[in-house]
Amino acid sequence: MTGPLDPTGDPARHRAPRPTTALRGAAPLLALLALAVLVGLAGWLGYRYSYDTALARQAERGQVQLRLYAQALESELAHYDYVPGLLTLDDRIGTLLRQPGDAAAVARANEYLSALNTRAGTRVVYVLDARGKVLATSNWQRPDSYLGEDLSFRPYFRAAMEGQLGRFYGVGTTRGESGYYLSAPLGGRDNPDGVAVVKIGLEPLENRWQGADSQMLLADENGVVILASDPSWKLATMRPLSPDARERFAQNLQYNRAPLPQLPLSEVRVLGNGSDRLVRLRQGPPMLAQQAALPGTDWHLTLLSNTSQARVAALNSAALAGVLMAFVLLLGAAWNVRRRIIGERLAARAALEAANSELERKVAERTADLSATNQRLQAEVAERIRTEAVLRQAQDGLLQAGKLAAVGQMSTGIAHELNQPLAALRTISGNTGKFLDRGDYETVRANLGTIIGLVERMGRITGALKSFARKPGPGKPQAELAQAVDNALFLLGTRIEAVQPRLQCEVEPGLAVACDPNRLEQVLVNLVGNALDAVAGREQPMVSLHAHVSGGQAHLTVRDNGPGLSEEAFSQLFEPFFTTKPAGEGLGLGLTLSAGILNENGGSLSASNHPDGGACFTLVLPLVRQEIPHAG
Ligand code: ADP
Repeated sequence: MTGPLDPTGDPARHRAPRPTTALRGAAPLLALLALAVLVGLAGWLGYRYSYDTALARQAERGQVQLRLYAQALESELAHYDYVPGLLTLDDRIGTLLRQPGDAAAVARANEYLSALNTRAGTRVVYVLDARGKVLATSNWQRPDSYLGEDLSFRPYFRAAMEGQLGRFYGVGTTRGESGYYLSAPLGGRDNPDGVAVVKIGLEPLENRWQGADSQMLLADENGVVILASDPSWKLATMRPLSPDARERFAQNLQYNRAPLPQLPLSEVRVLGNGSDRLVRLRQGPPMLAQQAALPGTDWHLTLLSNTSQARVAALNSAALAGVLMAFVLLLGAAWNVRRRIIGERLAARAALEAANSELERKVAERTADLSATNQRLQAEVAERIRTEAVLRQAQDGLLQAGKLAAVGQMSTGIAHELNQPLAALRTISGNTGKFLDRGDYETVRANLGTIIGLVERMGRITGALKSFARKPGPGKPQAELAQAVDNALFLLGTRIEAVQPRLQCEVEPGLAVACDPNRLEQVLVNLVGNALDAVAGREQPMVSLHAHVSGGQAHLTVRDNGPGLSEEAFSQLFEPFFTTKPAGEGLGLGLTLSAGILNENGGSLSASNHPDGGACFTLVLPLVRQEIPHAG
C-alpha cells in the first residue's frame, strides 16, 4: 500500500490548499457586488411595477378622454349629415339638374346653395351633374369658384354615383383647403341625376384640442393625419404608405399632391391590455399612444399622452424598493452576524464547560494523587522524626563517648596530677605531726596552708573533669571564649607539661559565643590535644591560639608547627573513626564531634596547612550580644 507521503518528502506538496489572501480579500467585494445587484434588481422591479401600474391608470384616463373626444367628433360630423340629402328635396336643384344650361336655374341654385352654406355653417355646398361637372356652388361669386370644374375623379363623387353616402377627407384642388366632404346622390339611388356635396372645415374641432397636455391626432382610412393638436403633424402618415396608395393619391388628388411624410413615431412596447402602446417621437421621451375608431367612419383617433409623471412615480418607487431591499438585506446580514456570534458564544461556552469539567476531573485526579503523596510524605516525616530522634540519641551517645575518650586520654595525666599532691600531702602531713609534737606551731601552720593549697588544686582538677563530662543543660547556651580556652588548657595541663611547647594564647577576654561552655571546652580540648599530639617529640614545638572578631562572629585559630595534614587526612578529616594514631590512643571521633557541635550552634570548623608548616584549625561561632563578665 502506498502511503500518503510524497516520496520527495516535500511537506509543501501535502499542505491543504489554503484560501489565498486575494480570495479572502475578494469576499467583501463579492458581498457588496451581490448587494448592489439585488438592490438594483429590486429597484428595477419596483420601477417596472410602478411604471406599469401608473401607465395602466393613465391608460384608463386616456380611454375616457379618447371616448369623449370621439363622441364630440362624431356628433360634430353627424351634424352635417343631413345637408347633402336636403338638396334632393329642393325644387331649384331638381330644375338645375333637368336644365343644366339654363342660366336662370343656375343662378337660382347658386343663390340657394349660398344661403344654405351660410345657414349650415359649412365651407362650401355644391352640386355635380352625373358626369361630375359642378353645376352650381355656394361660392359661385368667388373668382376661384368650382363652377364648371370636373370633379369626377373625386372618390366622394364616385361613391355617391354608386348610390352611397360619400365621406371623404381631402385637400381642395382649387384653393388647397383641406376639409371633410360629404356627398349624397341626387334623384334615384340606382341611377342618380347628380351628386350633392358639402365641404366642412374641421379646424374648430382642432382648436378645441390645442392647449391640452396630451396630443390628439385624427387619421383617415389611409392613415393620413387629417386633424392634429400640433398643426405641423397634419398631412403626415401614421404608417408607411404603399406605392399603390401613393399612385392612387396622385390620381385622385385626395391630398392635392401633399408630400405625406411619415410621422417619426417608433414603437417601444405594447402594454398589457394589448391595444395601448408606448411610442417615442424621434428620440423624445416615451408617450402613451391610445387609439379609438371613430364610429361611422374608417377613421381613427389617436391620443398621445405624456408619461413623465408615471416615470417620476416609477423612479420614486424604484428608489423606495432599492432602499427597502438594502434595508432588508442589511437587516438579514445583521441577523446573520448576530446568529453567528450567538453560535460562536454557545460553542465557546460549551468548549469552556468541557474544559472546565476536564479541569475539574484533572484537579480531582491531582488532588487524589496529592493526598496520597501527602500521606506518604507524612509517613516519611514521621519516620524521619523517629530516625532523627534515634540519631540524636546516637549523637549524644557519641559525644559522651568522645568525652569519655578524652577523659581516658587525660586519665594518666590526671592520675599524675593527683598523685603528686597526694604524695606531698602524705609527706607534709607526716612532717606536720612531728612539728606539732615539737611545738613548732609556725611550721605546722605553714604546712597546713600548703595542705589546703594542695587540696584546692586537687578539687579544681576533679571539678574540671566533672564539668567536662557533664551533659549540657537546657536553655539558650552561651560561653565566654577566653574562659573556655583557659579551662581546656587547664584540663590539658599534664600533657602540655609533657610536650613543653611554646604556647601562645591571644584570646581577648569578654567574647560571648553561642555555645554550651562544656561543649566548647570539649572542642578546644580536641583541637589543642591534636596539636599537642602533632608537635610531641618535635624540635621547638609550638602551639598557638589566636582569636579575632569579624562579621559578628568569633574566629579562633589553633595552629601548631607539626607535620601538617596529609592529602588522605584532608579528604577524610571529618569522617568518624578516621585516625592515624595507634590503637588505644585515637578513636577518630574528635574532629567529627567538634564539627557537629559547632554546626549545631550556627558555627563551623575548617582545616588548612599553614604556609610555614603545621596544621591550622579555625573555629567560628556567632557572637552573643550580652557580654559575660570575665571570671579572672
Ligand atoms: P584522633 O585524635 O582520635 O585520631 P581526631 O578526629 O581528633 O581523632 O583526629 C583525626 C586525625 O586527624 C588524627 O588521627 C590525625 O591524623 C589528624 N590530625 C588531627 N589534628 C592534627 C594536627 N594538628 N596535625 C596533624 N594531624 C592532625
